Amino acid sequence: MITIKSDSQIAYMRRANLIVRDTLDLLREHTKPGVSTLELDKLAYEYILSQNAKPSFLHYNGFPASICVSVDCEVVHGIPSARKILREGQIVSYDCGAIYNGWHGDAARTVAVGLISSERQQLIDVTEQCFFKGVQSIVAGKTRLGDLGNVIQTYAESFGYGVVRELVGHGIGRQMHEDPEVPNFGIPGHGMRLSEGMTIAVEPMITMGTEQVDWMEDGWTVKTRDRKPAAHYENTIAITSNGIEILSL
Ligand code: MG
Ligand code: MG
Repeated sequence: MITIKSDSQIAYMRRANLIVRDTLDLLREHTKPGVSTLELDKLAYEYILSQNAKPSFLHYNGFPASICVSVDCEVVHGIPSARKILREGQIVSYDCGAIYNGWHGDAARTVAVGLISSERQQLIDVTEQCFFKGVQSIVAGKTRLGDLGNVIQTYAESFGYGVVRELVGHGIGRQMHEDPEVPNFGIPGHGMRLSEGMTIAVEPMITMGTEQVDWMEDGWTVKTRDRKPAAHYENTIAITSNGIEILSL
């Protein structure tokens, strides 16, 4: 079921999303070779609590941490750990969610650890551009999910990148995952129309090689099948009478 939000409900979601944005900025600041991903998780947990919010990922379907930390070929849902230490040249995706007054925020960033190759930097940049090109193409009441997905897919594939099919964006509100599913691929003119009052998380997951992924035995981590790097970029957006508002920027 798709839920339509009022302006005051969107205001709560804005607050939740700004907490998520600030948490991600904090993680970016602390990203450097030698840092343990468990330390970063603790930092995020404490910051979110200090803002009178709750980390929505913690215990979600049994997930053991406040953030997902996915390094290099890990696409999403990587688990922070004291043994998982960031190293120079890696790329790391942070995915974070917070609940404020019962409303959810959800966003993700991919960040360089120290100096990275130009190929990896391009993957990060194009993944962000996929988000913005997609979102800027939305016309409330007109654009369909297939149109949005197609803009993202076409742009990513023009660089020879893969677009993950098995994981998609989603509606968001009182629940972290609501209808509709928001794929990063699609056929123009297909799917539901995006209309005023909808709030969705748009989250391109783009790979340097194959779009195929594997689920690891920890029950969470998703890796690219060819073990080439992947990047993830996400924001929660609201479709309003004044256009598109990116709530987590
Ligand atoms: Mg997310
Ligand atoms: Mg999401």
